[in-house]
Amino acid sequence: MARRRDTLPPTATAPLRAHAEVAIIGGGIVGLAIAYNLARLGCSDVVVLEGRHLAWGASGRNGGGVRQQWSTELNIRLMQESLEICRGFAQEIGTNIWMRQGGYLFLARTADELGKMDKAIALQNSCDVPTRRLDIGEANELVPELALTAFAGACYNPTDAIVFPWPFLWGYAQAAAKRGVEIHTFTPVTAIDGTSDGFALHTPKGVVRAARVVNAAGSWSPQVARLVGLTLPNWPARHEILSTEPLKPFLKPMVSVLDSGLYISQSLRGELVGGITVHEPADREVRLGSRLAFVEEMAHGLMEIMPRLGDLKIVRQWAGPYDMTPDGNPIVGEATDVPGFFLCCGFVGHGFMMAPVVARYYASHLTGGPTHPLFDKWRLGRFVDTATEREDMNIG
Ligand SMILES: Cc1cc2nc3c(=O)[nH]c(=O)nc-3n(C[C@H](O)[C@H](O)[C@H](O)COP(=O)(O)OP(=O)(O)OC[C@H]3O[C@@H](n4cnc5c(N)ncnc54)[C@H](O)[C@@H]3O)c2cc1C
Repeated sequence: MARRRDTLPPTATAPLRAHAEVAIIGGGIVGLAIAYNLARLGCSDVVVLEGRHLAWGASGRNGGGVRQQWSTELNIRLMQESLEICRGFAQEIGTNIWMRQGGYLFLARTADELGKMDKAIALQNSCDVPTRRLDIGEANELVPELALTAFAGACYNPTDAIVFPWPFLWGYAQAAAKRGVEIHTFTPVTAIDGTSDGFALHTPKGVVRAARVVNAAGSWSPQVARLVGLTLPNWPARHEILSTEPLKPFLKPMVSVLDSGLYISQSLRGELVGGITVHEPADREVRLGSRLAFVEEMAHGLMEIMPRLGDLKIVRQWAGPYDMTPDGNPIVGEATDVPGFFLCCGFVGHGFMMAPVVARYYASHLTGGPTHPLFDKWRLGRFVDTATEREDMNIG
């Protein structure tokens, strides 16, 4: 079969341009979605600098979950918009992201969890998200394979979805490149100098000057920020995930256990894909190694809710970084101490689903368009102004 020629892949070898209006550090979903949206608004003098290949970071390693079940109005409304962008992705960008709207089913073990769940459902319903509370019998009607004796209840939103991460990322990359954005892979930014009109970014391929810089380096963003003397409060946490041999389709919703963070979904090819939170001491290093300890916890968690899967074979396991923040919300906007240096990082375990909508507002913000309230709510300065605690109970 002839190779398609209508794509513009990112380049590892082309020379760097000497100057760009905006330089974006990090070719994950956040950096690429911002690049695309800038170009869509007519600002295509943009260069994306990615240290490895595209999909190297969390964006190439995640579960692809896109949900509107949150417990703050800001997150619910943003995710409603993001889901709509995902639904129209093929039409807008021209790439099939294999979106499947099978819903999300959350399982609660305790009365306390159920109480919080009910509050979140009421808020979601007030925003027109059709989440409903299910008793155990109803949850079993939805997924008969579930063994739920240890659970008190569940909630289900049929419009939550799963997308396939790689075409999502590549779709943004290709659509940005087609509009004139230069995407350089294997081009790590190793030093940044302040100049009279912005910044000089040093890479092994040379120096690019930019009036404005966006730090979209995910779990590596604290290291990148240090290049301009800025200390960020986010830190990396390893999160592991696995994929099994394919099974005949049986699992419609993504199933998730609230207290353990276990989640499991079935891909269009039949594999089960899922993970669980394994707590490790906080560390400033990004760790991408896979461990048996994860497989053990995952197997225990899965056997509790679906003992029929006992003979299932694991085909692959891998790990990626969650980009943690003290309150579980991202860090966005200009760093007031370093004018012209912008941040878009700290997306914990939900940056993939939020990137489409946040990037759209980010591009508007950078090009002088309307600024969304998220730029106030999620500014870096909040960590200095107030004691920050987790606000949304549905953060992974
Ligand atoms: C196992 C797992 C499951 C997840 N499941 C979900 C899910 O179901 N739904 C969801 O919404 N989210 C999920 N997430 C979270 C989601 O993947 C992330 O929030 C999101 O991908 C973050 O995107 P990013 O662009 O900020 O970072 P990344 O994708 O990590 O990209 C950052 C990029 O910056 C590059 N970089 C670093 N330093 C430099 C430098 N000096 N110069 C140039 N480039 C540099 C890195 O190589 C990397 O490619 C999951 C994450 C993991 C790990």
